[in-house]
Amino acid sequence: LGRHKDDQRQTGFDYNGVHFGQSNLHVFAGLCAVDNPTNVETMMKALHAHGQRCTRMGAYKPRTNPYSFQGHGQSCLHYVFELAGKYDIKVIAMEITHESHIEEINFALEETGNPTGVMLQVGTRNTQNFELLKAIGRQSRFPVLLKRGFGITLNESLNAAEYLATEGNSNVIFCLRGMKTSGGNPHRNMVDFAHVPVVKRLTRMPVCIDPSHSVGNRESDPSGLLDVVNATAQGVIAGANMVLVDFHPHPEEALVDGPQALLLEELPKFLEDVQLCHETY
Ligand code: PEP
Repeated sequence: LGRHKDDQRQTGFDYNGVHFGQSNLHVFAGLCAVDNPTNVETMMKALHAHGQRCTRMGAYKPRTNPYSFQGHGQSCLHYVFELAGKYDIKVIAMEITHESHIEEINFALEETGNPTGVMLQVGTRNTQNFELLKAIGRQSRFPVLLKRGFGITLNESLNAAEYLATEGNSNVIFCLRGMKTSGGNPHRNMVDFAHVPVVKRLTRMPVCIDPSHSVGNRESDPSGLLDVVNATAQGVIAGANMVLVDFHPHPEEALVDGPQALLLEELPKFLEDVQLCHETY
């Protein structure tokens, strides 16, 4: 996936009629964690109404605390895929934490006859889970959104992408999601969107930003530090090709990361602002 000097090869890839490249822009808005069919449908309906073709929906959640909600896993896949089919939305960024999840997703897709498509996500905690990367690389049905590891060098994270490619899957999007710092202040993670142009120069991968997990709070604090929306603008102006962003119809009831989820009524303005930033770039 590395870009060599004078490399003229196409960046990115096509998947089920949609191009994911280094010059266009997609928003992957959706639920960090699937909670119930009503919220999934509300989200997909709103995205469809605003011309969106992709969403994020987390079924398998890798949680730091074993007592936290771990995601509905396989049990929610059927209704997620049925609703995705109904609203013609691709489920981008379905994070998996174990290779057996690939089979579960395949099975649910077959059962529901969903024609829209799924993209797998490797989360930041698994960027160096080499056996998982190899297993995901061996299947070529689903493209992959790979998160940067939060405590390793950029080069080490780019090598993780090569693990996918050397096993046969080079349909990979690289996602910046912030780096760990001591204390997590002022943001949940240190926003690393200045690396957008760096990754685009070094590789042929489209680059996604995840302002939600980088900043960790939809509100700006009183000193006016970056909030999710401002961080998004920063990343898109830097040339990001995708924005992975948490929304929720009722963030106060979200089972995972409610404080960073944008409100559904903010969606139209958010999409408009992101488009303006993309045009500025
Ligand atoms: C997520 O996208 O839901 C997630 C857990 O992200 P990360 O791996 O970046 O923490």
